[in-house]
Amino acid sequence: MSNTLYRLVYVSQNEINADKDTIQREIHSILHAARDRNKTSDVTGALMFNQGSFAQILEGQHDHIQETFERIQCDSRHSHVVVLSFEPVSQRQFPNWSMAYLGENSGAVRDFEKISLKSGYDPDRLSGDEIFDLLAKHLVKEERYSQLQR
Ligand code: FAD
Repeated sequence: MSNTLYRLVYVSQNEINADKDTIQREIHSILHAARDRNKTSDVTGALMFNQGSFAQILEGQHDHIQETFERIQCDSRHSHVVVLSFEPVSQRQFPNWSMAYLGENSGAVRDFEKISLKSGYDPDRLSGDEIFDLLAKHLVKEERYSQLQR
């Protein structure tokens, strides 16, 4: 198997139509499964959620990403899964995260809303690079902030 690293970026529509507590529980369950399974297959990445959508980045070997993404696509907690990019990369951006999470109150969600508005809420007009830059930038910010809090 080739050791080349790949990165996949997708967006999808949230189908968890429930009260806030139930949504929190579902997100917790998604992250628990994701972190557990991704550790085993050496997949890293980041997930962002707002009320309407998910955006996710998966990094790892080609076959590992493909296997993981096939499972993710079958999950009825989201729909309209649109792959924005899937390409080889020279290094991981999230090496320490089996799945980092940027939730509702993060700056990432506010920036995602701006990008979505610019695209006319059409996922086909979103760019994988733009979503990647957005999640990477905000995660670095949050990591710096949490280091300051320690
Ligand atoms: P099972 O729990 O037996 O799942 C079997 C199938 O049912 C899977 O295809 C799964 O997609 C679907 N499924 C499981 N639970 C539910 C549920 N509560 N409601 C609807 N369908 C369900 N998994 C990862 O391994 N890595 C990730 O990075 C990752 N990211 C995710 C991001 C999002 C936005 C979502 C919605 C899910 C994500 N998951 C991720 C979870 C993934 O979809 C599977 O639930 C998980 O990997 C366990 O799958 P399984 O086949 O081991 O087990």
